[in-house]
Amino acid sequence: MVFAADSFRSHESVSFFHDEATGLRSIVAVHSTAFGPAFGGCRMWPYATDEEAVRDVLRLSKGMSYKNAMAGLPFGGGKSVIIGDSHQQKSEQLLRAFGRNIEGLGGRYITAEDVGISESDIEVVAQETRYVSGRRQRGAAAGGNPAPKTAFGVFQGMRAAAELKLGRTSLDGLTVAIQGVGQVGYHLCKLLHNEGVKLIVADVNTQSVERAVAEFGARAVAVDEVLFVEADILSPCALGAVLSAASVDRIKASLIVGAANNQLENDEAGEALLRRGILYAPDYVVNGGGIISASLEYLGGHEEREVWARVTGIYETTRVVLIRAMREQRPANVIADEIAESRISAARAARPNRLRRAS
Ligand code: NAD
Repeated sequence: MVFAADSFRSHESVSFFHDEATGLRSIVAVHSTAFGPAFGGCRMWPYATDEEAVRDVLRLSKGMSYKNAMAGLPFGGGKSVIIGDSHQQKSEQLLRAFGRNIEGLGGRYITAEDVGISESDIEVVAQETRYVSGRRQRGAAAGGNPAPKTAFGVFQGMRAAAELKLGRTSLDGLTVAIQGVGQVGYHLCKLLHNEGVKLIVADVNTQSVERAVAEFGARAVAVDEVLFVEADILSPCALGAVLSAASVDRIKASLIVGAANNQLENDEAGEALLRRGILYAPDYVVNGGGIISASLEYLGGHEEREVWARVTGIYETTRVVLIRAMREQRPANVIADEIAESRISAARAARPNRLRRAS
């Protein structure tokens, strides 16, 4: 079932782990090591079936390959999932068992936080493996909470998109609708508010909404309305697959730039956006700020200010993708995929044969 799955295509390996004592069931997908070890976070989620978990980890690990390639990082793409409810089934022993599994992969895959796995969980995992990042901030060294850097990258993507589509050199005076004001959404609100942007927000968590209203004067709308309000930019920062052929028909914003992974339900949604004249900045192009931070932390010897400088580069990367999309009148997600795939193929072709001996 795994090899035949559409989502398996082009993956290098998938490893399944089980630890009877702690109940750990985890899957590690390595999509590509062409640029270096596969790097991507660990998600803990109560998947209804094993098939659902496999599908998710494969989809996410491929996304990481593309994201890392677009960010120019010396890492390939991978992802891991732990099957279970993070509120009820997570324990120190389970996380340590997971850490031992990652160590056993010998560095082919490096893990970090994702949904359901916190910074303190990562500290526990780090007791068992060296192949881990996203640890607590240490002085001026690169690292720490990735969310503010992810938000900054999305902000850079918005600047590039607004300049190209709206002819605006500043976001001042524009209206941005944000779906999900959690960690990334909150920091994005702050950046946009400081820039003079009017905010519209929605979140299933009412406290998060109240905070955005109180701190940034945001206008709150219902969660089923936020995608369709009158705004210049729509920013999905909650869930994946929110852009479908049906939802695209009702969107009023002319730009979409957000942090959520896998925003397009399928390629048809990308085509539908193009037909409607809505410019979509591909998610993995603009949301790479967090992985840039985790990568420089893992490599060591880098300072936090270098992370911010590199994340600023998302402005230029977004411009390159969107200019080509506008010129060729093709969906920006297809253009980004082509660029990422050609970089990965070139790296694969150039990979040295490690067994070749010097004669
Ligand atoms: P988070 O969990 O802190 O925030 C997500 C927010 O979305 C929460 O406040 C949640 O209540 C809200 N939400 C959930 N369902 C919703 C719905 N139907 N409508 C409106 N709001 C809803 O997560 P985060 O770290 O802020 O990440 C946000 C998105 O960005 C995720 O998709 C994540 O995968 C992606 N992302 C995050 C990072 C990072 O550095 N944290 C990096 C890359 C991508």
